[in-house]
Amino acid sequence: MIIAIDGPAGAGKSTVARRVAAELGIDYLDTGAMYRAVTFGVLAREIDPTATDAVIRVCRELDLAITVDRVLVDGIDATSAIRGPEVTSAVSAVAATPEVRKFLVELQRDWIRTRGAGVVEGRDITTVVLPDADLKLFVTASPRVRAERRVAESGGDVEEVEATIVERDRRDETREASPLSVASEAVVIDTSEMSIDDVVADVLSRVKG
Ligand code: C5P
Repeated sequence: MIIAIDGPAGAGKSTVARRVAAELGIDYLDTGAMYRAVTFGVLAREIDPTATDAVIRVCRELDLAITVDRVLVDGIDATSAIRGPEVTSAVSAVAATPEVRKFLVELQRDWIRTRGAGVVEGRDITTVVLPDADLKLFVTASPRVRAERRVAESGGDVEEVEATIVERDRRDETREASPLSVASEAVVIDTSEMSIDDVVADVLSRVKG
């Protein structure tokens, strides 16, 4: 069983993907962590995330080790740092670089090839990485609800967080290389008025149904 999940920032994708994978006893891959890890490496080398050639070079040089609960970049534990504000504001620029995407998409396809099953989550999984997945989902929620969830989790001002989310959506949806979009056969789940438990139950019923 291969499940592909896409959706915008803060829609609850990661939590849902992790829980569904655990329920089914299969592995889970957070592809956003891969783009974040490359961005961490770019910033650690003090390279401008919009300097395409330098970013591509870094991407090829980096030693990335991504497991379920740890992200190591060149041997440094970057698990917390990849979620910080510096990486979060630079990641869209790095993810817009086609060569970076090509490189990471190959790693993602290798990951699924090795296992033969898994839940893979990101922005282009249903459209580009695994268009033949057994189940394709687009998990979303209104920007306000997504901002409220972020604030409940890690603090901040709802209006400000919402503005950041809207801006990151805009960059992810309008970039030329693999923009965030709903695959034609994907099931859209709007989680604005659903609890995580409801979403997990809904996904599992689609797997079993
Ligand atoms: O999912 P997360 O918010 O951690 O992703 C961080 C960023 O990585 C996204 O805003 C997007 O720019 C990029 N990304 C992507 N394609 C993916 C996963 C993430 O472009 N498959």
